[in-house]
Amino acid sequence: DSKNIVLNVNGIEVIYNHVILVLKGVSLSVPEGSIVAILGGNGAGKTTTLRAISNLLKAERGEVTKGSIDLRGERIDNLSPSDLVKRGVVQVMEGRHCFAHLTIEENLMTGSYTRKSKGEIAANLEKVYNYFPRLKTRRTSQAAYTSGGEQQMCAIGRAIMANPSLVLLDEPSMGLAPQIVEEVFNIVQDLNKKEKVTFVLAEQNTNMALKYSDYGYIMESGRIVMDGTASDLASNEDVKEFYLGVG
Ligand code: ATP
Repeated sequence: DSKNIVLNVNGIEVIYNHVILVLKGVSLSVPEGSIVAILGGNGAGKTTTLRAISNLLKAERGEVTKGSIDLRGERIDNLSPSDLVKRGVVQVMEGRHCFAHLTIEENLMTGSYTRKSKGEIAANLEKVYNYFPRLKTRRTSQAAYTSGGEQQMCAIGRAIMANPSLVLLDEPSMGLAPQIVEEVFNIVQDLNKKEKVTFVLAEQNTNMALKYSDYGYIMESGRIVMDGTASDLASNEDVKEFYLGVG
């Protein structure tokens, strides 16, 4: 039922610097309340896909040259990143991007710039601390002195401060020990179930991503080459051979 689709990407092409065609017709649809993974190796186009959705390509000299993007049936491809945040679409960038000189709590507060009510902001902060107890204990620490896992949690927590309905997570596992990756993904799953946040997750860590998502798209050289439910992909022989490192 198309009414339950929160995000639809319809055949988008993306060109960088006016000449480099990076996305060659990417389509995907994201059901409300799901966790959808975009998988594939280095340079496959995962980050570019997320940046196209959140309209963050301009800073990279990129543009969508074909296709369209709809949020609950309405075109969003001409909305600014901050208008998208107001509509509930928030991206957590690769590499965490916490402000190193700010404390964890100050970082979280930067995520609430679209909210006006002090009561709402305080309630959101409590909510974030409830999901990420580690951030509460580290709230007065400068982000630079926290661990990679805490910085990733801080980046996701900051997104949650904006009351999003759709969070685009770019490579949350990057540089983290497997146990920390599990911890982060468990919290993502919790937010998905209890707060009804829909997630689109770009990941090179196919194994971990499929464990926590409902549906997956596999990208290669700017195209979707396969898609299916997470359990179908995880048991698919080609996926096992090429992406899960087992034959
Ligand atoms: P990674 O995991 O390394 O981020 P990815 O799947 O997210 O990989 P993208 O970052 O989307 O891939 O990159 C897709 C292709 O676009 C790559 O070939 C990359 O070199 C190219 N690319 C990315 N950003 C730019 C840019 N600003 N200018 C030109 N080419 C770019």
